[in-house]
Amino acid sequence: MLEKLSSALKKGVKKITNAIFVDKKLIDEVIKEIQRALIEADVNVELVFQLSQKIKKLALDENIKKVDKKEQLIKLIHDEIEKLLGKGKELKIKKKTKILFLGLYGSGKTTTISKLGFYYAKRGKKVALLGLDTQRPAAMDQLEQMAKKAKVPVFIDKKEKSPEKIIKKYEKELAKYDLVLVDTAGRDGLNKELIKEIKSIEKKIKPDYRILVMPADIGQAAKTQAQEFQKALNIDGVVITRMDGTAKAGGALTACAETNAPIFFIGTGEKVHEIEIFNPSSFISRLLGMGDLNALLEKVKSATSEKQQKRIESKLKEGKFTLADMIEQTKAMGSMGGLSKIKDMIPGLGKVKLKDAKFDETEKKLSKWEHIIKSMTKEEVENPEILEKQTSRISRIAKGSGTTTTEIRMMLKQYKMLKEMMGMQNQIASGDGKIDQKMLQKMAKKFRGKIKL
Ligand code: GDP
Ligand code: MG
Repeated sequence: MLEKLSSALKKGVKKITNAIFVDKKLIDEVIKEIQRALIEADVNVELVFQLSQKIKKLALDENIKKVDKKEQLIKLIHDEIEKLLGKGKELKIKKKTKILFLGLYGSGKTTTISKLGFYYAKRGKKVALLGLDTQRPAAMDQLEQMAKKAKVPVFIDKKEKSPEKIIKKYEKELAKYDLVLVDTAGRDGLNKELIKEIKSIEKKIKPDYRILVMPADIGQAAKTQAQEFQKALNIDGVVITRMDGTAKAGGALTACAETNAPIFFIGTGEKVHEIEIFNPSSFISRLLGMGDLNALLEKVKSATSEKQQKRIESKLKEGKFTLADMIEQTKAMGSMGGLSKIKDMIPGLGKVKLKDAKFDETEKKLSKWEHIIKSMTKEEVENPEILEKQTSRISRIAKGSGTTTTEIRMMLKQYKMLKEMMGMQNQIASGDGKIDQKMLQKMAKKFRGKIKL
């Protein structure tokens, strides 16, 4: 269900989380990705544009501290998409509740009613289904079969053509149930005949809710349909079915939000248990892949402290990126998850293949590097280049730290590369946001397969 949208949104959020610097290039990339995904999910272009503008505005707001910015961006994306998705509403089932389901042909009424019968029976309600679709010859048989699957009693009359008479026939019997779900006939479109029929049924049933059933594959057309049914028949909300079978589900959901029609349930498959309460907040969390927004924001916060970031930034500017900074930086990247993510932090380097070490291997390496640094003099830490000229220093450090000279040389190599790489990133980040293609190619060539953190 909306897998493409979900994976694009997850990618965007991850990009922001893993970035050291939130720069214009990164934001443009993230916006483009989210835009493409939302439009593919059939969300109204105007709404997508508005969302992009909001992200851009926040990203370029100089009054927001850099570290806060990542959190705020993720929260903004979360909250705005949640708003786009519309409102959910819970059905209040009292002692006696009757619900009338309406909708066009094939929208999923009969299926939804059986699913809800199953759903509420499981939750201890005394449920019955009432079949009033006298239009289609096989409608009653279908409801009967599905009720059997749902294991709930069903009231139908295969010969009677008047819904009103069927209601009358079962009136007394139905009064014994907590919840009566009423199946009605559809039409190809909302015509006078359907309106008249529903109004007449409504008068006799006196339902607590009138729910419109719409399939997700109608996309943005859900807006007009909901509005028309709202106007003619005063619906209380909608159920969106077939969420599982279409990439356009975003259109149906957002269209409902625009009409203020709350969504009670979403149908996610053909089987009797495949229905769920629509809860926008948990739905968006699932789309974005965050179990809990607060937990994610906390992770962003701890991954790069503002102080740490400022220090590294200014050191880079002065060309004073030391070995200790490298360890600090590597740790920060490690705490954010996979270490190959370094490439996501460098604008435009996405395609370069970097070797990714396992997390605990990195931990081991880091602790070795820390030992090495402890055995170095202050001068050596600040200015590791002197080690290359005086190899006796390297032997001394190896002995002192319980490591090998090879390990020390490896660390120095990584340091040099990282320093150069970050220097380049800094150049890119502080420019006018345009990427110098030549420089990118140079970087890509230089670092391909070489970074092993
Ligand atoms: P009605 O004419 O409004 O009563 O629609 P039906 O209940 O007969 O459903 C029409 C078709 O949609 C049937 O083939 C159902 O199996 C299918 N359907 C309904 N809900 C879902 C759903 O959530 N997912 C999928 N994949 N199919 C559904
Ligand atoms: Mg039906």
